Amino acid sequence: MADLTDKASDYEEQARDAAISVARVAAQRARLPAVGQCHHCGAEVGQQARFCDAECRDGYEFEQRMRKLTGSR
Ligand SMILES: [Zn+2]
Repeated sequence: MADLTDKASDYEEQARDAAISVARVAAQRARLPAVGQCHHCGAEVGQQARFCDAECRDGYEFEQRMRKLTGSR
């Protein structure tokens, strides 16, 4: 039954990682002001929006992560 145990702990690890990254993203978003423009591509969006769509949001978050990893700003 080693397989089942391994899968369970894999799942726990993934769930923990997911919870951590969700909290991190939420903290980043809280700092991000809504300026009526997409933070990723600069397109005009609604007053309350920060991105055009999920794709731009993901792109922006990916960019931020990469910047943190490479240490550039
Ligand atoms: Zn956009």
